[in-house]
Amino acid sequence: MIYKNAQQKPTVHHPNIKIDPKVVVLHYTETVSVFETLRALDTRKLSAHFVLNHSGSIIQLVDTEKKAWHAGPSCFRNRKNVNDFSIGIELVNPGFYKKKSFWRYGWSVRAGREWANWPSQQIKSLNELLSWIRSQHPNCKSIVGHDMIAPARKVDPGPLFPWSKLNDIRFSNY
Ligand SMILES: [Zn+2]
Repeated sequence: MIYKNAQQKPTVHHPNIKIDPKVVVLHYTETVSVFETLRALDTRKLSAHFVLNHSGSIIQLVDTEKKAWHAGPSCFRNRKNVNDFSIGIELVNPGFYKKKSFWRYGWSVRAGREWANWPSQQIKSLNELLSWIRSQHPNCKSIVGHDMIAPARKVDPGPLFPWSKLNDIRFSNY
């Protein structure tokens, strides 16, 4: 399905395989801009269904009924290869502070590191996207962080991500 509020920028970096998504996977990009994000995905031959900028604007790269390459080796409720049954959303956010990172929304300390703050317009836009996903894919009932389905490899969307501000789609808490 195509989200009308997103700019369409189809990518070649996904297989032409139909999926019935059961779960939404949230990522952060470790970048500060959409430009940098698209370039990184291209270089690594990866994809996500959506890239959601810090401004709230959205780019759609893959139809939500098609498989994208965002989760890597992963497991959700004993089912492996989460790309086979998920929608991936890349949220533009640099993650934890690295040398020379600039982030206009500032940083907050958690667990001994500085993490990039999440601007409210980005979360508002995410909530709108999530309710659209729920309307189009009634079987898609869970929302997880990448860290929950690949805990040995991933920490995104990180400890500052405002789970409590998400509405509509229930998220699994394991
Ligand atoms: Zn991720």
